[in-house]
Amino acid sequence: MDLIHVNTVVRPRDEAALPGWAEGDAFVGGGTWLFSDPQPQVRRLVDLSAVSWTPIVETASEVVIAANCTYRQLEAHNWSSLPAGRIFATAIRSLSSSFKTYGLATVGGNIGLAFAKGMMTPVFITLDATYELATAGTGNTRLVSAAAFQTGVCKTILRPGEYVRSIRVPRAAFTRRLVLRRAAHSATSHVTAMVIGATDPGTGATTLTLSGALAYPVRFTVNASASPSAQVDTICAAHPLIADSHGSASYRQLLLRELAAEALAALATPDHAA
Ligand SMILES: Cc1cc2nc3c(=O)[nH]c(=O)nc-3n(C[C@H](O)[C@H](O)[C@H](O)COP(=O)(O)OP(=O)(O)OC[C@H]3O[C@@H](n4cnc5c(N)ncnc54)[C@H](O)[C@@H]3O)c2cc1C
Repeated sequence: MDLIHVNTVVRPRDEAALPGWAEGDAFVGGGTWLFSDPQPQVRRLVDLSAVSWTPIVETASEVVIAANCTYRQLEAHNWSSLPAGRIFATAIRSLSSSFKTYGLATVGGNIGLAFAKGMMTPVFITLDATYELATAGTGNTRLVSAAAFQTGVCKTILRPGEYVRSIRVPRAAFTRRLVLRRAAHSATSHVTAMVIGATDPGTGATTLTLSGALAYPVRFTVNASASPSAQVDTICAAHPLIADSHGSASYRQLLLRELAAEALAALATPDHAA
């Protein structure tokens, strides 16, 4: 796609050199979506892909993933001491564009796009992640929970000039047992509905994160004495379901119920794989 209205491209290695926000600016991660669609409103590209953040840093308390970490880098990280990290490979392989965009697409781009079919935000909500947001040209930063970030299809709480700098996941969350169940029209279609189940080994609590079918992912703690389908229905009544050529709202709700049941059954089975 030729972006014929763009007249400036800024591609700093140093984050401090990012320019202050101006009307017509767009941040670039890997460009896999940005360069695939007309962008008549964009005049300047502010490319984050060359900023010299370390893709993944492990500390004693958390794992910090830079926004410009690519799918390839995320999957290649050694997750052996953090078993739930295997979920990233499963999520990446569930993207319809995976094989075409794998080496370029970034975690921050997927989050920033905020598609209902996005794979990263439901994973990060399940892992209790926090996003560090920064405003270009000001040095201002703030932390928000992954659960509060996406407010609709392609809608987020990002303010003008604000970008995702990093994703912070508490180390303890990687001890959870996770399962991802998805429904799609074909192996290369994007998800129509998706459920991530998680059981915490400390508390024994199980959560389900519903996505793909809703305008934004929603997580809830499962009440073991109530019907899972009824709990899914309650969430669907409280949050907007989407409908498009991949499925009506009621079809998607049905898929969520089925996937929730599958996820709970898998979590109840020892040694299941994510
Ligand atoms: C054929 C095809 C299939 C696709 N299938 C899927 C799919 O199944 N699911 C899905 O979710 N997406 C899909 N996509 C869209 C896209 O490729 C992915 O979402 C990808 O992860 C976007 O990452 P990127 O780094 O390339 O983002 P870019 O294209 O660079 O940017 C995407 C958006 O995010 C913004 N952005 C980039 N970085 C940041 C940041 N750090 N902070 C805030 N905003 C930022 C940009 O301004 C832009 O609005 C598909 C794309 C194609 C071309």
